[in-house]
Amino acid sequence: MEKTVIDINKMGMTYSTGSGEEKIQAIKEISLHAKEGEFISLVGPSGCGKTTLLRIISGLLSPTVGSVSVNGKKVDGPSKDIGIVFQNPVLLEWRNILDNILLPIEIRNYDKKQYLGLAKELLKLTGLSGFEKRMPYELSGGMKQRACICRALIENPSLLLMDEPFGALDAFTRDQMNIELLKILAGESKSVMREDKKKKTVIFITHSITEAVFLSDKVVVLSGRPSMVLKSYDIPFDRPRNEEVLRESEFGNLVYQITEDIKIACGESLYA
Ligand code: ADP
Ligand code: MG
Repeated sequence: MEKTVIDINKMGMTYSTGSGEEKIQAIKEISLHAKEGEFISLVGPSGCGKTTLLRIISGLLSPTVGSVSVNGKKVDGPSKDIGIVFQNPVLLEWRNILDNILLPIEIRNYDKKQYLGLAKELLKLTGLSGFEKRMPYELSGGMKQRACICRALIENPSLLLMDEPFGALDAFTRDQMNIELLKILAGESKSVMREDKKKKTVIFITHSITEAVFLSDKVVVLSGRPSMVLKSYDIPFDRPRNEEVLRESEFGNLVYQITEDIKIACGESLYA
């Protein structure tokens, strides 16, 4: 039986604002389960609580109700078995690309030399070979985001959390990044495959429904704030995929249906 990697049960999150008097309920109640190797995208209106959900899974934030487990363990803080890629490429401007990628290793006081091989392989896989010594300001937005993906993968986590990672890229670069990501996850590189040969599980937030359907095994549609799961779609195409899948009529149907769901979630007025 496939192992459950993420187990979220009736989880809710209400923020207390600065003074503590006003409360903002971001997540009403969400249950979500991800199996090993599964790629799940979350889509939903702006401000519905997607980033909040990702932060809770990563252990950066605690839910106010319900429980969240990753790999059978209750989440109670950040774990090296979880890699995170944020919407904006967060790189330290004064460190070169290689040193940025190796930052988590340095923070943990591990031997950097042991990770150089993997770092170089990740750079190659993401088309950044030769840019090791460049500074972040010398790279384009797409290249910086690829460096962030390398950094998230340097500890070979079993779970990868991505919050609109390609949202700031032009459409062409974004399409390329989607294909690269699927290749990385398919384990084209031996060293990025986990030693135990287990496939990585991914939770991916995006505003692009096409991107969600293209990448995922499952697309979960969230309602407006406070969020709940409105619908969940299984995407029936094998991974890794390439552009060919865009020609499938089922692909178009799924994009259409999910777009309709989001319209309802946002309230039709937004589209009037
Ligand atoms: P999304 O990523 O779907 O756009 P967020 O998870 O960022 O949504 O935010 C969901 C809701 O929670 C928003 O209304 C936002 O204003 C509120 N929120 C997010 N972070 C905080 C915080 N640290 N304190 C108070 N409210 C917050
Ligand atoms: Mg967000």
